[in-house]
Amino acid sequence: MSDPTTSADSRTAALSVPSLMTVDVTALKGVGKQLADKLSKLHIHSVQDLLFHLPLRYMDRTRVSAIGGLQPMANVVIEGEVRACDVVFGRRRSLVCKLQDGSGLITLRFFHFSAAQKKRLVAGARIRCFGETRRGASGLEIYHPEYDFLDGKQPLELESRLTPVYPATEGITQARLRGLSEQALELMDSHSVQELIPDDAWKHHPYPLAEAIAFLHHPPKDAPIDQLLEGTHPYQQRLAFEELLAHHISMLRVRQKLQAEGAEALPTPKPLLTAFQKGLGFQLTGAQQRVADEIAADLSQPFPMLRLVQGDVGSGKTVVAAMAALQAVGNGFQAAIMAPTEILAEQHRQSFTQWMEPLGIKVGWLSGRQKAAQRREQLAAIASGEAQVVVGTHALFQDDVHFADLGLTIIDEQHRFGVNQRLAFRQKASGQGRSHQLIMTATPIPRTLAMSAYADLDCSIIDELPPGRTPVSTVAISNDRRAQVIERVRAACLDGRQAYWVCTLIEESEMLEAKAAQEVAETLERELPDLSVGLVHGRLKAADKEAQMSAFKAGELQLLVATTVIEVGVDVPNASLMIIENPERLGLAQLHQLRGRVGRGEAESHCVLLYGSPLSNYGRERLTVMRETNDGFVIAEKDLQLRGPGEVLGTRQTGDVSFRLADIQRDGHLLPRVKEVATHIMATHPEVVEALISRWLGHSENYANV
Ligand code: ADP
Ligand code: MG
Repeated sequence: MSDPTTSADSRTAALSVPSLMTVDVTALKGVGKQLADKLSKLHIHSVQDLLFHLPLRYMDRTRVSAIGGLQPMANVVIEGEVRACDVVFGRRRSLVCKLQDGSGLITLRFFHFSAAQKKRLVAGARIRCFGETRRGASGLEIYHPEYDFLDGKQPLELESRLTPVYPATEGITQARLRGLSEQALELMDSHSVQELIPDDAWKHHPYPLAEAIAFLHHPPKDAPIDQLLEGTHPYQQRLAFEELLAHHISMLRVRQKLQAEGAEALPTPKPLLTAFQKGLGFQLTGAQQRVADEIAADLSQPFPMLRLVQGDVGSGKTVVAAMAALQAVGNGFQAAIMAPTEILAEQHRQSFTQWMEPLGIKVGWLSGRQKAAQRREQLAAIASGEAQVVVGTHALFQDDVHFADLGLTIIDEQHRFGVNQRLAFRQKASGQGRSHQLIMTATPIPRTLAMSAYADLDCSIIDELPPGRTPVSTVAISNDRRAQVIERVRAACLDGRQAYWVCTLIEESEMLEAKAAQEVAETLERELPDLSVGLVHGRLKAADKEAQMSAFKAGELQLLVATTVIEVGVDVPNASLMIIENPERLGLAQLHQLRGRVGRGEAESHCVLLYGSPLSNYGRERLTVMRETNDGFVIAEKDLQLRGPGEVLGTRQTGDVSFRLADIQRDGHLLPRVKEVATHIMATHPEVVEALISRWLGHSENYANV
């Protein structure tokens, strides 16, 4: 292992030895078609898959614990004498058995029991039993322990190793999985499960893969169980590293494939951009200029740009997107800008039209609710190339949309879409031609998460707000003081400002949320008769929603009651007060998004978090974060800490960022090294790429097959 040359050779040799990757699970004793089908639900197809199906946790059945020292929620072996055993008729009939050793007493409870069981579990009997402790009606209890009589011929044996607990599925018991892993381990040696990470990529000496796998499937009795349960044992870290590496490489491979396709080089059209900036009426911030330059440089290359722009709410991403679009147009290509909602798309249409028509550029428009005739007209303009910049919603990617010459696709606020959809859009877009791609998000993504979820994208950050903005000052006020808050809304509006009142619900029901918002709007209308109050929610017809929004934008409405539909991107600079009801129900990133709707103009802005009391500690902690900072990146980091990556990326349901073993927070420290090694492997060891990806994510087709 020490000499890189020989070990590289042996690695290549190992790759040509038939591996357990190609040995089907049915080769194992006792695995027929039926069991194989069940195993495939766990993504276990080959013997190697079985080896990489690692325990979730461990139980210690290696020693007998004293009853007096037990904690709830522990898997333990205990021994003692039965003091009493009776059938108890509570809510459910159960057999309740009191077991005692010198140190204490515990209750064993059986909801199902036979007459024979009852007959033998009598006072004075000595048993050894195994099970999970819990807090029950009479102190510590174990439900349905496994047990054996100590005077019997074969008492429940103590294990010599920690007992693994595997991720399982219906119809496969832990005992079955343990038996199969044992068989697989017997077949394993360092050739049949290849070391895929080249030695020259590991600067620090790695633990051999086979050794790590064997250890984790059945750790010895004295293994540090706390460390194992945390996932920080060196062997676990060794495998977590490899898993993160496999993910990273799979994303780099997606990127490589796309880049190999090539794209039109679009040199920067300087005069056009100068004319555009003159018409803006403001100077770009330094950050906007820097990011615009990064994009311009990408677009001038003959391979597709894949760039993510992160910028806090209000940092001015739209202008930067417009400049990118101009670079396509200036070279005779079309640019498409997609927004996640009608309201946002409409807003972009207005900005783009206002900025571009004076330059003689025609802006096209596609939305889901266009009349047929209007749509036909737009489709024709897009197909002929007459529409040079096309703004729209998802409607942009329908099958009947054909661009004459699409050079650039921009996806705004992509956070809403999730990683899967991002890949899907990308495929659509590439079906439209070999276009460059720009993705913009207002939700800052914590660095570690960005490194793992967006490894396939270059990243630019607009980390500066346009001048003249005063940070939004945020207070948390209990709902008991609602009347005061309403007064505050009145005062602000009578002073010429506008305000939002945001209603939130726990249920994911648009209907209930709409109803709640409606009721709040009615009450506020009664209590604030001198103000004109509007209402938007997800159940409104698009046209009505839009009418309300434009009335608010035009200043005809002073107070806008809304559900979280206004969360993303809406821009009304005169609105300087936002009330958020029950903010404790929302994630921090979402609150930050909402709050970003104010503080867009010159006036000092305020956000009132109107919470329902009493507030939990967790709720209090989160509201404190909101009060203390306006920095989206700080908030995103905190959100990641408090809620985990799935929630933060908004992809919990789709399971996009799911790892078998790795944990982005716990193992985030590995990522810089993962990135280096991934780049190194892509460049110098392409022969291991496929094997690494299929070993760790053979089942997640997204990344594997793009
Ligand atoms: P976001 O990054 O949230 O999408 P927008 O692009 O909607 O932000 O910009 C927010 C507001 O700031 C808009 O009204 C926009 O015209 C304005 N704006 C953008 N850049 C600047 C700038 N450099 N100076 C002044 N105002 C700007
Ligand atoms: Mg925006």
